[in-house]
Amino acid sequence: MNKDLEEKYLSVIEDNVNVGKSNVGVEFVILILGIAAIFGMVYIFADNISNLFIDKMSTETQMKIENSISSNVSLDIDKNSKHVKKLNELRDKIISLDPELQNKSSFKIFEVKNKEINAFVIPNGTIYFTSGLLNKINDEETLAFILAHEMGHYAHRDHLKSISRDIIVYTLTSIFSNNQQNVNMTLNSISGLHALKYSRNQERNADRYANTVVYKLYGNNNGAVKFFEFLEKEEKTPEFLQYFSTHPATRERIKMLKGRNF
Ligand SMILES: [Zn+2]
Repeated sequence: MNKDLEEKYLSVIEDNVNVGKSNVGVEFVILILGIAAIFGMVYIFADNISNLFIDKMSTETQMKIENSISSNVSLDIDKNSKHVKKLNELRDKIISLDPELQNKSSFKIFEVKNKEINAFVIPNGTIYFTSGLLNKINDEETLAFILAHEMGHYAHRDHLKSISRDIIVYTLTSIFSNNQQNVNMTLNSISGLHALKYSRNQERNADRYANTVVYKLYGNNNGAVKFFEFLEKEEKTPEFLQYFSTHPATRERIKMLKGRNF
């Protein structure tokens, strides 16, 4: 072979090898960034796609899912509470206002013997009020606001959206982490009685829903106003901490409702 030609070939080969070597590091970084980006997209879009799917889901599918994830609740419950009778009447009025609530859960209501102030709905639509809350709030319009807020979460299928978000987080956490504690915590929030965590947007919509319900029932929104006044008065007490852990701060909620037209 011509010497010049041989050198030319060799230099081409060496160049190629060199190009390959110098790119290994860069390609690896790109690969890692790519994987991270894909997981990020999965998290963001899976959430949106699953919400879309949940919104379009038939009532039949909704009920099947709710029944399959209903947990055996072991709370100290007062079954003959005088408060529950009143709440049941309010519940029936609220159901009659919204087809989204009709022919679904029976929305059983229970009073939990607990001095903390709280109210929450579990995935099958059962609603719990603590004695701590019911002993302090007697006013019907205020109770209607609190009850309608919880039923609003159900009407918007927030409970199912929360669970699907937890499942996505759980899947990603278990892929990336060997930390069993994180995985257990996520699993508990999916299956347990754990009060579901809702997004700020879901809370705002539940407040708006409740405000509209109260307005339809009483012709004014005093229920919302009185409830927020109560929250401002109570939010420094230790019994209130539980409510704070499952709902946004009062001032934030008042801001959300301001400017709302019926
Ligand atoms: Zn809420």
